[in-house]
Amino acid sequence: MTTFYIKQFGCRATQADGAALERQLIERGCTSVRDASDADIVVVNTCTVTASADAQARDAIRKLHAANPRVRVIATGCYAQRAPEELSRLPGVAWVVGNSHKPQIPDLIETISAPTEPARSNGFFPLAAIFPASPAETRQPAEILLGDIFDQQTLLSSPVFGGEGNHTRPTVKIQDGCNSRCSFCVIPFVRGKSRSLPPGTVIRELQKLSHAGYREIVLSGINLGTYGRDLSPRVEFEDLLRRILDETGVERLRISSIEPMDVTQDLVELFASTERLAQHFHMPLQSGSDRILSAMHRWYRAEHYARRVELIRERLSHAAIGADVIAGFPGETEDDHAATLAFIEALPFTYLHVFSYSKRPGTKAASLSDHVAGAVIKRRARELRALGERKAVAFRQSQIGRSLRVLTLHPSEGRASTRTPALSSNYLPFMVDGVFPANQWLDVKPSGWEGNCLIGQVSKFDFVPTSFQMR
Ligand code: SF4
Repeated sequence: MTTFYIKQFGCRATQADGAALERQLIERGCTSVRDASDADIVVVNTCTVTASADAQARDAIRKLHAANPRVRVIATGCYAQRAPEELSRLPGVAWVVGNSHKPQIPDLIETISAPTEPARSNGFFPLAAIFPASPAETRQPAEILLGDIFDQQTLLSSPVFGGEGNHTRPTVKIQDGCNSRCSFCVIPFVRGKSRSLPPGTVIRELQKLSHAGYREIVLSGINLGTYGRDLSPRVEFEDLLRRILDETGVERLRISSIEPMDVTQDLVELFASTERLAQHFHMPLQSGSDRILSAMHRWYRAEHYARRVELIRERLSHAAIGADVIAGFPGETEDDHAATLAFIEALPFTYLHVFSYSKRPGTKAASLSDHVAGAVIKRRARELRALGERKAVAFRQSQIGRSLRVLTLHPSEGRASTRTPALSSNYLPFMVDGVFPANQWLDVKPSGWEGNCLIGQVSKFDFVPTSFQMR
């Protein structure tokens, strides 16, 4: 029986691909092992969003090979799609499979697990070149399986459990790919056009999770607001949310991220109409300077973004509002950076995710001439993070004395504590006084905070036993 281990990198979308692959392999009779050194095959599911993500994947493959020279590595994911030849040269890599061909990995594993059959006798013909091994290596050359057509690919999805130290809130990827072309972003090249999981499949997945006892479920995608535009008949994202509310028992549904122009009045009204939708909007901003937004090929300007934030605040006075921001995009001047700081300062953001600009080969921004010096990028990122932290502190402060409903999470492994971690609808991490089982609703009053966690005292607790059945 073939044993496998999946080494995960990257965002929730990539993790969802890994979870779907794990489900497929187990259905085929393969055994998942907890330690890579016990595996016949290790699938390295890569990310390529920054140069350091690429470096981490290469490093992991080298270490896997050094620890177990007999293991066969299948490198897949976004880096495999973008630069397969780089991965194919690494020791221990048997196959490089792009995102375009990820669903074929189970067939591939059956093929390469059969000891007497040559790898290419089972219908696998590499679509790209076969890159030779370096002369110093005696191994078979890695083969590459990828193409640039994603549209026919079935969108596979499987809930992702875990991450951020808990297993209480599974994530379900319902959309992949992106039709936009932001000039810094490599994602459309490595994930193809927008594709959506049919609404019936989404409902079934969520019903299963809800019946299994999960109370909060996170919907994720690359560009969630475009959900359903590829389906026939077309489905609107808001209509999907309404169906989920009507047809499933999900107690709290969270949206991982949504582009600002997809935050409409109707969507905000829907969020305001029910506590079952987490009061949390994560809207990528990227820059507060119109000049830079234009160079990034973002399709809104600062004033449009600000209007969306106001829409949310008018109806949901305590909602979490978070943003991604890029420091040091090519051509960004001190004035542009100052405009971004001033823009963020003026709006009621509750947290920021700050990224240092990373040049991605093949993108429009990579070919621009006026790249910002690394030290300047670092300093600007530091200033943005400090501002984000001040905003987060102000938001925590504004919650003191309120009553909030939180969901208890699994405590971090091995950390004995007299407090229980929990998460509020408006995305505030809590440490609640007392020890409570995971996956319980508590009404708490925050009295202060330590680090980035509010400290809360329980005012109401109705214990409902749950046992997760799906893992
Ligand atoms: S919207 Fe822009 S940043 Fe987001 S995935 Fe699409 S191209 Fe990339």
